Amino acid sequence: MSNIRDILKQREQQRDQASKGDSEFPDGITRYVRMGKHGEVNADGKDFVILAQPDDWFVYFVHEDKVFEGKTIHKFRKHTCLHSPKEADADILKYFKPGKTECISCKAGAKRKMFFMIPVFDPQYKTYRVIDVAEFHANNLIADYDKAEKPAKKFNKDYSLVGDAVFIKQSDKTYALESAELDEAILEEAKAFIGIDYGYADLANFREESDIVAILQEAEEGSVDKSVLPSTGATNDASDGGNNDAQKYNF
Ligand SMILES: [Zn+2]
Repeated sequence: MSNIRDILKQREQQRDQASKGDSEFPDGITRYVRMGKHGEVNADGKDFVILAQPDDWFVYFVHEDKVFEGKTIHKFRKHTCLHSPKEADADILKYFKPGKTECISCKAGAKRKMFFMIPVFDPQYKTYRVIDVAEFHANNLIADYDKAEKPAKKFNKDYSLVGDAVFIKQSDKTYALESAELDEAILEEAKAFIGIDYGYADLANFREESDIVAILQEAEEGSVDKSVLPSTGATNDASDGGNNDAQKYNF
């Protein structure tokens, strides 16, 4: 086994560890809420306290190219685009187009998608977590967010869903959000997590360019332009088959 694979694996484990924070979570649970059929937010849904309004959700970009042929096949390992904001209040319009000088994957023409991280308080683990979803799901959640907020705003125009209970579930191949009821004590606990630094840049797992080059080297033929990659002489044989970003792969 080549050394670089061991090193990469180790780095992944360290990142996984980092995403868990100071072991606030039991085994198998991380800062990311696992979404989808076998996740924590499935058709049965789960209660949270929403910690930020949609304008303050963290928007970033991901290189991902997948097809469904009986099962999901990734043409290359999903990774964060280096031409992405590092914080929630960044000027997102600056990042809409691929950044060929900032990101080797953009330069290689790898498929690029917008993703959202939504900060929530999880009453089960009594801390903040993030719901990390692609644009399509975020769009649906934003529409539901507005719908949930509207009736209360009629009575109190200053009302905000931020700091209030929501119920999120998988529904029709996407996610739905509605207002929910949680004990006042839980809402009070959640307050401490509103407006804190959620560490989005760490959670987005920005990789070293050399890591990304290794990912692109192993990409399925035709999915990226490998001619732009620096020739490193690094091994580019069979993939390790591992997928340590699994907690972020919602669909
Ligand atoms: Zn990129």
